[in-house]
Amino acid sequence: MKKDFLFSEINKLKGVGPQLSKYLKRKRIEKVKDIILNLPYSETDRSKIVKLNHLEIGKIQSIKVLVKKLNFPRVRNLPNKIECEDETGKIEIVYFNSREGYLRKLFPLNKFVIVSGKVSFFKKKYQITNPDYVTTIEKQDYVVKNIPKYNLTKGINEKKYRLISEQVINDLPNIDDWLEFDFIKKNNLERWKEGIKRLHNSRDSKNINSKSYRRLVFDELCANFLTLSENRKRIKKRKSPKIINNQYSENIINELPFELTNSQKKVLKDIYIDLSSENRMFRIIQGDVGSGKTIVSLLSIISIIKSGYQCALMCPTEILAKQHYNLSKKIFKNYSLNIEFLTGKTEYKKRKRILDNLKDGNIELIIGTHSLFQKKIHFKKLGLIVIDEQHKFGVQQRSDLAKKGGDDCDVLLMSATPIPRTMMMSLYGDMDISKITEKPARRKKIITLSKPEKKIKELWPFIKKQIEKNNQIFWVCPLIEDSPFLNYSSAKKKFELINKKFPNRVSLIHGSLKRDEKDIILENFLNRNTSILVSTTVIEVGIDFPNANLIIIENANKFGLAQLHQLRGRVGRGEKQGTCILLFKDGLSKNAVKRIKILKESDDGFFIAEEDLKLRGFGDLVGYQQSGVKNFRFADPVIHQDLFTLAEKYVHNINEKVNQNKYSFLLKLFDRAEIINVSEY
Ligand code: ADP
Ligand code: MG
Repeated sequence: MKKDFLFSEINKLKGVGPQLSKYLKRKRIEKVKDIILNLPYSETDRSKIVKLNHLEIGKIQSIKVLVKKLNFPRVRNLPNKIECEDETGKIEIVYFNSREGYLRKLFPLNKFVIVSGKVSFFKKKYQITNPDYVTTIEKQDYVVKNIPKYNLTKGINEKKYRLISEQVINDLPNIDDWLEFDFIKKNNLERWKEGIKRLHNSRDSKNINSKSYRRLVFDELCANFLTLSENRKRIKKRKSPKIINNQYSENIINELPFELTNSQKKVLKDIYIDLSSENRMFRIIQGDVGSGKTIVSLLSIISIIKSGYQCALMCPTEILAKQHYNLSKKIFKNYSLNIEFLTGKTEYKKRKRILDNLKDGNIELIIGTHSLFQKKIHFKKLGLIVIDEQHKFGVQQRSDLAKKGGDDCDVLLMSATPIPRTMMMSLYGDMDISKITEKPARRKKIITLSKPEKKIKELWPFIKKQIEKNNQIFWVCPLIEDSPFLNYSSAKKKFELINKKFPNRVSLIHGSLKRDEKDIILENFLNRNTSILVSTTVIEVGIDFPNANLIIIENANKFGLAQLHQLRGRVGRGEKQGTCILLFKDGLSKNAVKRIKILKESDDGFFIAEEDLKLRGFGDLVGYQQSGVKNFRFADPVIHQDLFTLAEKYVHNINEKVNQNKYSFLLKLFDRAEIINVSEY
């Protein structure tokens, strides 16, 4: 096979028409090369020819039998039957919905045939109904063997899929392996072609530590790191250095009611160096919830603006954008900045005015949602884009974004999802990373308690007291509605219960509400019109609720540690002592007890994320779905940790351009080529 053929549409293979293409698409098989990536999950053992007196009922078996008689009853719904035998016994091969002519050809009288299928026993007779294979003795090698078992979908059976997959797997192109053989051997990997063959024709695909599986993982990681490093090269291009005026931010720092933490100061310094350097800034601030990222970004913003540029601050939700808008109005009030707020809902006239003013450079800071990056928006001199809570963004979006900003525009991202190092490098490897590791000095550590669910009654007096003190409470449930299948609490049910106890003090928010409805409920809560907010975990990240000091999380063992840590970070951001109560069903596993202990003892998000990964393993990890790490099909950050490090190092040392055929092949194989537009080179 020619190498390029791998990247053709799947219907270029023999026997694949429109209908089959549709079915294959459901299995993520769209191009020929996707056959390679669709690994078998097991094997079907058809390798032994079994005598009829040794058949095992219910198993798939292969037999070699003499065709004795064909019965065609010609009555609707009655099956056709073929009587066969070997020297040890008899069997019936049964067909529903089959044509006579076809069967007569398949089963020539008094000849031997090979039949393979699931054996059953009916009215004292052995039967194989609609066998998977029937073939002549000459062709028995095709059937009598171990056959890879793929996860198939409606409309495709093993036989059909084999006809397709073998066109690829048995005819892999001879490629120029991008790995040297010495490297392969030393790191316990397999050569590319041999590896793929083994994965499809042995149990290696089930053994994620086999050489061939590791090779596939290594390739997947290389493709990922290559994409990141290319993206980085593109974005970190030379720019005209900015002359940064820090006087204003110094003044603001002096006016703040608190002292910046050392971490915050360090990050600010990183940013100033980037801004005035000759390369574009492409930096992410990683800091735990409540570590004070916003003020760092605002200080960078004022410096840029006072040096003659415009800035854009983008948030994932309107309500967070609004909060940042209000804060910046307050912080910059003595500095005569022109700040505007723009979202998808901004009405036409106002929107037009804002767009005009952005173009003329009259607006210096624009804060809003995704709508900030529509095509129609033009800036006069955009110097910095800041994006808050960016973990919902993938490489593709980051790359698009940088393009929109123009060549002289710096980019700063902020994320409050501490993640383990392996994930950090595979997600943000294209960026420079600044970590805020300290909490603001006077911040009190959140008290974390655990309680069995049945003692929920003991909570009511405590909650009552909080409400009387005008404190606010989050109440988190795993489900929106009760489910007949899952024994978890639902937000709707809980809302009804709590609302009876504290009428008119409770509100309910969950993911299936409309954006507008959610915003109203959140505003109401922010303005203290309600005291308790019952929700699922979807309530927004990033919003500062300084008055909330208690969070109750139901079925806490359902959540990952990192997720619990995130959730509890919603309280205790103000002056008041924050408390987090984890509710559990009875009978916690040892592992669960360990996890609670970690949470009680530590409030370091990075540490917790590492522990979470270790304790649960990557496969079980929830809460990272949106982060993009789950996009790996083969690599597992826990089991293949060594390969993450190895691949990172390997890519770092590549000096050739990735347009070199062998690397673009790799990128195309893992669908990364489009992200960085390899063909552009
Ligand atoms: P996050 O990092 O989660 O975005 P924020 O920037 O929203 O956190 O900050 C949370 C709260 O901490 C805000 O009310 C902010 O004013 C306050 N804060 C930020 N830095 C400090 C500091 N150095 N000392 C005390 N409070 C601070
Ligand atoms: Mg924030």
